[in-house]
Amino acid sequence: MRIFTQASDLSNQIKKIKKEVDKIGFVPTMGYLHEGHESLIKQSVLENQKTIVSIFVNPLQFGENEDLATYPRDLKSDLKKCEKLGVDFVFTPNESDFYNNHKTKVKVSEMSNILCGVTRPVHFEGVTTVLAKLFNITKANNVYMGQKDAQQVSIVKKMVKDLNFDLDIIQMPIVREIDGLAKSSRNKYLDGENRKEALVLFNILSSIKKIVENGELEVDKLKYEARKILKKYSKAKEDYIEIVNKNTMKKQEMVDEESMMILAIFIEKIRLIDNMKLLED
Ligand code: AMP
Repeated sequence: MRIFTQASDLSNQIKKIKKEVDKIGFVPTMGYLHEGHESLIKQSVLENQKTIVSIFVNPLQFGENEDLATYPRDLKSDLKKCEKLGVDFVFTPNESDFYNNHKTKVKVSEMSNILCGVTRPVHFEGVTTVLAKLFNITKANNVYMGQKDAQQVSIVKKMVKDLNFDLDIIQMPIVREIDGLAKSSRNKYLDGENRKEALVLFNILSSIKKIVENGELEVDKLKYEARKILKKYSKAKEDYIEIVNKNTMKKQEMVDEESMMILAIFIEKIRLIDNMKLLED
């Protein structure tokens, strides 16, 4: 496994291997790797001749009052995990080199201002900007992303289509803890009581899915039921609870095969997201 910190060095390496390799897989991450990330990496190693993982806490996707400074980091352990999983190249760019005199932003309009984009207005622009750079540097054929960040994947798919990136986005299922909490680097912030309160997300999603399966399809009624569950958790506050089309992220009035419940909940200051498809195809 080789580790690169300079984009130009990684680019040169990719140019060399592109002649012999026709499938490069890429897994973009912010590090502090857990089983969610590992599922993406494993799939990439399985489906490609070479796998690149980037580990970069991208400052562009954090707002002023967010957790950029305290975001969990453990590069040593991340590198060990990558090595064990058979990753070929790890890219850990240095922020000042990577964004040296950088002026360009990439933004997918409309989709970036809804749901998470309301509370995090610069977030998705930061994500699409860093990914546009990383896609060009890695020359990846397949990019692996998690359903956990459903809005992110749908925005990135739209960018890929609109800007004619020659690659496929492969969307991988959410990996959860045994009790249902979606794995996340930010779960490190959850201790004691807050860890219990964090189950509110999975509880709402699985309860609403059951209600839908029993025949209730009206979104307003389902959101009312979701908020009733939320009230049972004293430390949990709604950022948003919505039912949207899983591809366009547009709100719906009635549940159909493309519906997904998506939510963001604060447990005190910790903001957690999750989602679930409500009806099987
Ligand atoms: P992050 O390091 O949080 O930016 O995540 C990097 C990638 O891992 C993104 O595509 C996430 O959607 C994905 N990911 C994060 N958590 C999970 C999870 N619990 N299950 C599946 N994929 C995940």
